[in-house]
Amino acid sequence: METFRQWLYTGPGHFQLEEVEKEEPKPGMVRLAVKAFSICGSDLTAFRRMHERMIPPLVLGHEFCGVVDAVGEGVATVKVGQRVGVNPILRCGVCWHCKNGRPNLCPNRHNTGTTILAGRYDGGMREFTYMPEFSLMPLPDSIDFIHGALIEPLGVCIHMADVGYLPNEKYTVIYGCGPVGLMTMLILKARGVEHVICVDVRKNRLKLAKELGASLTIDATEENTVSLVQQFAKERGGADRILLCTDAPEPFLEAMKLARMDGTVVLTGHIKPTIEFRPEDILEKGLRVLSQVTFLPEHLERSMKMIQNKEIPLDKIVTKVLPFSSLQDACELLCAPDNDEIKIVIDVTRK
Ligand SMILES: [Zn+2]
Ligand SMILES: [Zn+2]
Repeated sequence: METFRQWLYTGPGHFQLEEVEKEEPKPGMVRLAVKAFSICGSDLTAFRRMHERMIPPLVLGHEFCGVVDAVGEGVATVKVGQRVGVNPILRCGVCWHCKNGRPNLCPNRHNTGTTILAGRYDGGMREFTYMPEFSLMPLPDSIDFIHGALIEPLGVCIHMADVGYLPNEKYTVIYGCGPVGLMTMLILKARGVEHVICVDVRKNRLKLAKELGASLTIDATEENTVSLVQQFAKERGGADRILLCTDAPEPFLEAMKLARMDGTVVLTGHIKPTIEFRPEDILEKGLRVLSQVTFLPEHLERSMKMIQNKEIPLDKIVTKVLPFSSLQDACELLCAPDNDEIKIVIDVTRK
């Protein structure tokens, strides 16, 4: 019996390394030798506390890439030995949303490495995993596996950069300087947005945001974000667009105050608490309040091209590459207060 190792998430704070049997892929499925995976903020949420989208036991991981190791019956578009990137949203393909170009909102989907909607689907935090043929994208040789693991998170950020974007955008506020906030800033800068203003509560993250090109950084623990942004973007009466890459509720309320007339507010972080606001604040300024849910296949294709063309400095985002055995340590490190890590990628080929 051939076996491989996987990290089973058994509950907050704990992964269990286990040896499981290697299975032949079912029809239409591919067995993938995972080469690298990165750790997402949502994985860390499950590591910190019970997460309703990731009920244990579960193999986490939706940011990964690898090499086709075996193919099931009928698989025709990928070959054994081929390097591939992964789209972890496994849409049903037949519902109204899938048929109308919105597979990210398919109500019958599996999201790899989560237990949402269609249920548990073990993810990529293991040496081998099983994915449907349609979820794989050829990975050019010029993209190494470490960067290949970032196709998904960068795709999320490209979508974020797009939602509500107008070509005359000049002042964009990003709340939350985690990997999503920082990568979205880099995309907007590459696109020519003149001023990205970054707000966070961690000094080290703000310092990095400044180094990466933020025009203004605001420490929300000691500065007044609303008045600073209003002052900075005075010529337009406030910010053009505000991106909420955080799950804290206050930024949503502030966003409506610091937006210009006809401005846009985009939600992506899961803001849980019920909060009070005046709907008239939206109406009076004619604001657009939009949301961004994961990505579409086109965002992953664009992500792959951006990585290939080295359009953004990913090496500033990947602050550590650790071996397969270090997952638990990597999560503990990322959860430590004031750590300097942005994104940690696990190199599965290093033991
Ligand atoms: Zn993610
Ligand atoms: Zn569907």
